[in-house]
Amino acid sequence: MNIFDLTGKTAIITGGNGGIGLAMARALADANCALSIWGRNPEKTQQAAASLRSGASSRVHALSCDVTDRVAVEQAFAGTVQEFGRIDGCFINAGVGGGGRSSFLDRPFEEWKTMFEINLDGAFHVLQLAARHMVENAKAGNPGGRLIATSSIGALFGAARNEHYGASKAGLVGLMRALAVELARHGITANSILPGYTVTEMTGELMANEKFQNAVMPRLPMRRFGTAQDFGGIAVYLMSNASAYHTADSFVIDGGYTAC
Ligand code: NDP
Repeated sequence: MNIFDLTGKTAIITGGNGGIGLAMARALADANCALSIWGRNPEKTQQAAASLRSGASSRVHALSCDVTDRVAVEQAFAGTVQEFGRIDGCFINAGVGGGGRSSFLDRPFEEWKTMFEINLDGAFHVLQLAARHMVENAKAGNPGGRLIATSSIGALFGAARNEHYGASKAGLVGLMRALAVELARHGITANSILPGYTVTEMTGELMANEKFQNAVMPRLPMRRFGTAQDFGGIAVYLMSNASAYHTADSFVIDGGYTAC
C-alpha cells in the first residue's frame, strides 16, 4: 500500500499555471490526483494543463479565473464541481509579491488594497466555497477535505518595503488556523505552507539583483534558493491519508533561512 497514492482524489490549485503552483500540480498528478488548475492568463493556463496531461494518467482540468472576482470564482468552482463531482482538496496558491520598491512611508493605499484583494480576499472567496462544499459532503456522510494555503516566510520575519506582502501572508496563516479549528469536526484539515526565497517568475528580478544575492546567500544554511519542485512533496503529503490528523500547522520550507 502506498500511503501517498491519491487515486480517486481531486484538488483545485489556484495559481496552478506556473511556479510553485504548477510544481505542486505536477507532483499531485504524478501521485494520481485529478486536478483543476486555475490562473488568470488563459494561454498560460492551457499550456500548463497540456504539460501536466503528458506523462500523467490523472485528469487535468484548466480554468481562467481571477480570484479577486467573486462571480468568476463562483463560476469556476461550480464548473469544477460539475467536472469532478467532489472536491477533496483546495490549494490557495495564487498570489502576488510586494516588489520592495516603495517605502511604507510612501505606500499608496491603492497598492496596499490591491495586495490584500489578491492575496487575502481572493483566498477568502475560494476557501469559503471550498469549505461550504466540504461541509455539505460531511453532512451527507462523506467527511474530509484539505485546505492548503501558500503563505510565505514574509509572515514571520520583517522585510523592509514589503509590509503589505508580509501582512497579507500573516493574515493567511491566521485565517488557516481559524478554519482548522472551526472545520475539524467535519474531518477537514487546514494548513499553511511558508516558502522561503524560491526561483519563480515572481522573484526573477530579485534573484538577478547582485546586492540581494550577496545579502541573502550567506544567511541561507542550504546555500541555494528554493526551486518550485521543492514544494511537490508537501503538496502530496497534505492531500494524502498520511496527513489526516495534521492540521492548523505552518510548514516553513526555506532551506533553514528563518532559523538563523
Ligand atoms: P508565480 O508568479 O510564478 O505564480 C503566481 C501565480 O498566481 C500565477 O499562477 C498567477 O497566474 C497566479 N495569480 C496571481 N494573481 C492572480 C489572481 N488575481 N487570480 C488568479 N491567479 C492569480 O510565483 P510563485 O510560484 O512564486 O508564487 C506562488 C505563491 O507562492 C504566491 O502566493 C507567492 O506569494 C508564494 N510565495 C512565493 C515565494 C517565492 O520566493 N517565489 C516565497 C513565498 C511565498 P497568472 O500568471 O495567470 O496571473
